Amino acid sequence: MHIGIDIGGSHIGLVLVDNDFNIFKKGFIQIKDEYKRLEKNSLNTAIINLIISGINSLKENNEINSIGIGFPGLCDINKKHVIFTPNLNLDNNELIRIIQDAYIDIPVYIDCDANCSTLAEINQGALQNVVNAVFLAIGTGIGGGIVIDSKLYRGSSFIAGEFGHMVIIKDGIECSCGNKGCFEKYASICALKRQCKEAGYEFETVEEIFNSSLTKKIVEQWVEYLSIGIANIYNILDVEKIIIGGGASEHFDKYKKMLIEKVKSKICYKQKILNIEKSRMLNNAGAIGASMLGSEYDEKK
Ligand SMILES: [Zn+2]
Repeated sequence: MHIGIDIGGSHIGLVLVDNDFNIFKKGFIQIKDEYKRLEKNSLNTAIINLIISGINSLKENNEINSIGIGFPGLCDINKKHVIFTPNLNLDNNELIRIIQDAYIDIPVYIDCDANCSTLAEINQGALQNVVNAVFLAIGTGIGGGIVIDSKLYRGSSFIAGEFGHMVIIKDGIECSCGNKGCFEKYASICALKRQCKEAGYEFETVEEIFNSSLTKKIVEQWVEYLSIGIANIYNILDVEKIIIGGGASEHFDKYKKMLIEKVKSKICYKQKILNIEKSRMLNNAGAIGASMLGSEYDEKK
């Protein structure tokens, strides 16, 4: 059996899966308050302790072959450390070392959360039997994974698939990565909420934004930004499928047609058949994908 852990901005999701990656048991730990309440050092300790207690409650007497961690940042999967994490205040090298020390006989693996979700899509979701594809996780930011020859492509420094930080507007809005005009500052769900707020509309839920007649123009402009990034991806990678995951996938049917038309108008090869779909995985994709890291690592050896 394997354990997969998905560390997010508001909660940690955990799964215990069998060797075919079917979920046997799940765990959910709320960490919103810890982020608000604690300073960096005590936040590290608190979150590591919560992860360990989560692992213990899933592990019980089961024989565990690997533990995989999906992290919201760039990760060197060979050195097993985090390269860069713009949105989190966690000292990450310590995180892996402490967890590995706590489970000395079980190999621990780490990768960025979007790569984990992409692995789950390849093995169980909309990217099964697809040769070349891109997975886009559109939520607070925009992360992604690239599939080439049916395998996850991580790049030469493990930073491939950072679609959210493509610059689409020169001297645009400042981004947490240090640049300006990044794709995620215009086409993420967070950006859509900000665009509504700037126009004087505040909604409780994202669903209301997509359903309101007041926000039609704002949603259209958001889809326009989204189409710029997606057209760039098509022009560079010529993939057969693009999967939309994250919060934006829940409302995909409302903007799919408009998105495809706008992407079509921007790509260089107009005859290209655009296969843009939403993720079929439910909320556990990140954790299930993390649970696959050990097997993926063994296959590559
Ligand atoms: Zn950026």
